[in-house]
Amino acid sequence: MSVPIPSLKGDCGDIGCWVGDLLPGCKLCMEGKKTVVFVTGVCPERCYYCPLSPWRKGRDVFFANNSEVESVEDVIAESVVSGSEGAGITGGDPIARLDRTLEVIRALKEFYGSKYHIHLYTTGILLNQRKLEDLISAGLDELRIHVTGLHSWRAIQEALKYPVTLGIENPSIPGQLRTLKDIVIKAWELGVRYINLNELEFSEGNYTSLYMRGFRPLPGSVAAEGSMDTAVEVMRWVVEEGIDVSIHFCPAVYKDRHQFRRRMELRAMRTRLPYEEVSGATVKWLRVRCPRSFEDMVVLADAGIRDGEYVITHPKVKLMEGCVGGLLEAYPTTPRRVLNETPYPHISGQP
Ligand code: SF4
Repeated sequence: MSVPIPSLKGDCGDIGCWVGDLLPGCKLCMEGKKTVVFVTGVCPERCYYCPLSPWRKGRDVFFANNSEVESVEDVIAESVVSGSEGAGITGGDPIARLDRTLEVIRALKEFYGSKYHIHLYTTGILLNQRKLEDLISAGLDELRIHVTGLHSWRAIQEALKYPVTLGIENPSIPGQLRTLKDIVIKAWELGVRYINLNELEFSEGNYTSLYMRGFRPLPGSVAAEGSMDTAVEVMRWVVEEGIDVSIHFCPAVYKDRHQFRRRMELRAMRTRLPYEEVSGATVKWLRVRCPRSFEDMVVLADAGIRDGEYVITHPKVKLMEGCVGGLLEAYPTTPRRVLNETPYPHISGQP
């Protein structure tokens, strides 16, 4: 960014920056209070920049946050333990499995009530008036259209007739400033107030496709070179031209570094087991083998539980000499995703 934009809010490099307002769904997302419901990997579009992993792309899989789920009850349970106040429904194209999508929206609204905020991403290719009405009567609050063609504009024009918050969400592709400006102008003329520009992101699923087209990742990052500059240029132009549209740039690191971390912190507090110690976005516990009489004492005192040949106990429990095992650190997912194990006792003999 050479010249600062006076009305720019946030931080372009890390948490995201914007001019105007944020979509309600983005505000909750920033607090880590959105559960991501991946309804299906099926999608009729063929975007060359599609970031889906080969394990999800084109496959009819169902996830809530990072856990594969089988039912809407699983989605609700994941939302509860994550302390969410809303959900973002994504894919693939959620409209490709409309019945499942409607079931999820209805179930979440029934469980939490109308204040639970639900937004949904689609290109609109499969959307029509009837499906839109079904989504809105199920309780959809916010629709984000990824513009990929005329069908997206048709969906936008249709959605503008309904009481649903409407936004456009597209990747900020370096070298496509003209296309992005055209999207902004058309959105403005139609009356769309919000546009999200996501940083173009390298993933396992699109690396070759992006690389072959000349895009390059920034050193040590998954973000594409020039993507942020392109979004900032769009914001600068919107301000200079006095275009009354809010533009929000969402950096690639944001999802991993902030949203994920915040969600894990909330999850850790809500799902902490008696023998776990919460440490920011992770939980820790001791898994050790000790002299039998000591193990019995720990279990009888409800200070630990048996796990096969080990005893699991809280890191603050004072162990006797002769106990060996490890201090485990994990993300508070279901099941726990172990990140590392530090031997107990340490080489120095101290935990
Ligand atoms: S619309 Fe989304 S899920 Fe479908 S191909 Fe494009 S980027 Fe991938």
